[in-house]
Amino acid sequence: MSALRRAPYHPLPMPTRATTRGDERTRLDRDCDVLICGASFAGLAVARELTGTGTNVLVIDRYEIGERQTSACGIPTAWLTQLDLQGALQQTFNELVIHTPYTTVDYRLPWTFSTFDYRTLCGLLADQATFTFETAKVNGRVGHTVRTDRGEIRAPLIVDALGWRRVLAAGANIQPPDALLSRGLEVHPHGSGTDMEIWIDRSYVPAGYGWSFPAGGEVRIGVGSFDPRFHVREPTERLAAELQAPAVRYQGNWIPHALREAVEDGVFFVGDSAGHCLPLTAEGIRTALYFGLAAGRELRAAVTKQRTVPEALGRYGAFSASHATPFRWMLRAQRMIPRVAPRLLAGSLRAMQSRRFLDWAFGHYLEIAHPRFAAAGPRRARLSVTVS
Ligand SMILES: Cc1cc2nc3c(=O)[nH]c(=O)nc-3n(C[C@H](O)[C@H](O)[C@H](O)COP(=O)(O)OP(=O)(O)OC[C@H]3O[C@@H](n4cnc5c(N)ncnc54)[C@H](O)[C@@H]3O)c2cc1C
Repeated sequence: MSALRRAPYHPLPMPTRATTRGDERTRLDRDCDVLICGASFAGLAVARELTGTGTNVLVIDRYEIGERQTSACGIPTAWLTQLDLQGALQQTFNELVIHTPYTTVDYRLPWTFSTFDYRTLCGLLADQATFTFETAKVNGRVGHTVRTDRGEIRAPLIVDALGWRRVLAAGANIQPPDALLSRGLEVHPHGSGTDMEIWIDRSYVPAGYGWSFPAGGEVRIGVGSFDPRFHVREPTERLAAELQAPAVRYQGNWIPHALREAVEDGVFFVGDSAGHCLPLTAEGIRTALYFGLAAGRELRAAVTKQRTVPEALGRYGAFSASHATPFRWMLRAQRMIPRVAPRLLAGSLRAMQSRRFLDWAFGHYLEIAHPRFAAAGPRRARLSVTVS
């Protein structure tokens, strides 16, 4: 096997399902000023920016807030500090270890990356906002009416933060494998590790990568494929086995790798529903937060009558579209890197180890959705930016 075992694995325990079911799911027919569909990174970031406006904000999700983890929960640490979410932090990494069949490189990062606890982070983010929350499954939308399994909700301002399915889109949705989506699957064995590691190795996946993210009491081990037709269960289990960790507590989903319209038919699309996940790295948490804050700020301007609704929609759509260039470059890299011969790739990765190059490359990468943006909003104006 090409992968090096970096960290010893030790066992630990886990949470239970909370979502109300059956008779507890009462009818939900109502009006509100702002309806945010989806209570994960994007939806909660939108809600946060509406705090203090006195607006009637309703957030709905099919699960309780933080109940269903949607990722490996790795993020540049400064995003946690800028949003006062350090309470969710689990482990911080100064280095990225990349394994290929012909080499292993340790990249010293100019900023740190951290893993966090999903439930705690969602709880902390929700605590920063004022909204009513209901569990409901969103089935679709007609105009300004959103249809759920508990009834219909009407709102002049609607946000789709429901993830890759883009449930509230006007037309028929493109489904995998035809949609521009990657697929990712990970297991969450209890245990510990010291390094944030990735594997670029065709024996796991022809185009994509494997990862191991230690997070306090568990290690998140997974494989992502840029080609949606390529299944990742077997390679995920193989990588876990090679790291001598049991393949338990599976978590997987489709991951968008192309920007989509962030405004359609009067609806704000945020996070994965707008393709805001970065191609190549599949990093979609900080971008969901970033675009969520941006959408929330425009909604705030609309509900406080500083801007009209069409102006807010237009500005948010333009803001999202203004990021097309870095997303396009990253998609090009995603398509090109798997085609590079493994020995050449190993040599290139070694050549890129210089401190100067890493500072430049990772600095540009962070700029795509920089944590300073979190400090720029109405609620955070007094905070200074420190990127560690
Ligand atoms: C295996 C895997 C590992 C990943 N690891 C990382 C990582 O370490 N770092 C990183 O930056 N990115 C990672 N990503 C990508 C990241 O998870 C997403 O980009 C990010 O979660 C997008 O946030 P979001 O709020 O837009 O959507 P999501 O986090 O997917 O949230 C969507 C919300 O909508 C709810 N919902 C969905 N459909 C409905 C419905 N019909 N009715 C009601 N509610 C609904 C869901 O319950 C959920 O709460 C990973 C992805 C995968 C698949």
